[in-house]
Amino acid sequence: MTFQLTAEQEAVREAVRAFGDEEIRPVAREYEEEHRYPAELLAEAAELDLVAPHVPESYGGAGMDAISAILITEELWRADPGVGGSIAAADFGTGMLVEFGDEWMCEEWLPRITSGETPIATGISEPAHGSNVAGMETRAERDGDGWVIDGQKMWITNGSVADVAIIMAKTSPERGHRGITAFLTETDVDGYEATPIRNKLGITAQDTAEIVLDGLRVPDENVVGEVDEGFYQLMQFFAPARADVAGQATGVAQAALEEAIDYANEREQFDRKIREFQAIEHKLAEMATNVEAARSLAYRAGAALESGDDALATRLCAMAKLFASEMAVDVTDEAIQVHGGAGYVADHHVERFYRDARVTKIYDGTSEIQKNIIADQIL
Ligand SMILES: Cc1cc2nc3c(=O)[nH]c(=O)nc-3n(C[C@H](O)[C@H](O)[C@H](O)COP(=O)(O)OP(=O)(O)OC[C@H]3O[C@@H](n4cnc5c(N)ncnc54)[C@H](O)[C@@H]3O)c2cc1C
Repeated sequence: MTFQLTAEQEAVREAVRAFGDEEIRPVAREYEEEHRYPAELLAEAAELDLVAPHVPESYGGAGMDAISAILITEELWRADPGVGGSIAAADFGTGMLVEFGDEWMCEEWLPRITSGETPIATGISEPAHGSNVAGMETRAERDGDGWVIDGQKMWITNGSVADVAIIMAKTSPERGHRGITAFLTETDVDGYEATPIRNKLGITAQDTAEIVLDGLRVPDENVVGEVDEGFYQLMQFFAPARADVAGQATGVAQAALEEAIDYANEREQFDRKIREFQAIEHKLAEMATNVEAARSLAYRAGAALESGDDALATRLCAMAKLFASEMAVDVTDEAIQVHGGAGYVADHHVERFYRDARVTKIYDGTSEIQKNIIADQIL
């Protein structure tokens, strides 16, 4: 076992960091304030292989390993969770396509996603069913040689900007979680209506939408994987998604830590730099230690994904997501504390980072759900 990134992984980090510092940071505030999806930057990032980096080269991706994918997300979130996060989230569904999709789906859609032409969306959550995925009410009924889908999806990342989406629906409702199927659909079709959710606490440049499915027709060939196997497919899809959230949380916490260090080195009180107060020094030391611990766990989860040991990956990805997201909210909170009153207003980035970090405790399974998963694994 090694605790060093490879030279290739270090080079990837440097490339994303340069892109983040030069292309994302200078414009991030503008996109965030205007709640504008950064489509132009997505295309630019794609030229550097930063969009869906895990997708195999045969489908236009960079075929990167799990740790590289996590550290790309980490650096994109360090640059800005809204804008960088939109780039990192453009692939939310590609894992399902690579793993379970038919050849035509991968050939037709993955190159368009990796080139930054369009992100993909994945609709699982509904207004009445979030944590309880198996409770979903969206129905897909057979109709000739295809399916008709009716229902509602809630909080869907990229829902109103993606050209393509994976929709999870009940095909055998009487079978509970054994009756769920994944469907691929274009979004510019009758029966798919997305409305952006504009009043979010943070990540305002990211697109999050409510989707109404009203008689959406999809041919049989658009079933992703097997009919009634969607729940099990999702469970595989969630492990890397959770490791990715650990990367997001580590990135935004790192950004807040750097802002806090800079401010502590500038701000003076009682004729001294505030960094000279032990209370502030120790706070920064604790923040840095917690960020590093989360980073280690995130990369460890990445290594577990590569190992092929599914039980280990499930456990470590849940642990990494739980620890890193709780840490990110604490560290961004402490970064505001270091800034005093200046941290409470939008003039300093830490105010935004604190709001942005909060979502990492909610999506891809809340902290409470991660604890349930971890307990199931260890008890
Ligand atoms: C910005 C954003 C983007 C998102 N993107 C997507 C997306 O792209 N696709 C998608 O499908 N979904 C997406 N989601 C939805 C997200 O996954 C859900 O919000 C999340 O799973 C929680 O579901 P819920 O909101 O219905 O809360 P609920 O499930 O109603 O939970 C409410 C509270 O009860 C707790 N709780 C529920 N069940 C249990 C239990 N068994 N044990 C202990 N505590 C429990 C929860 O932890 C939480 O504290 C997104 C959400 C947000 C905010």
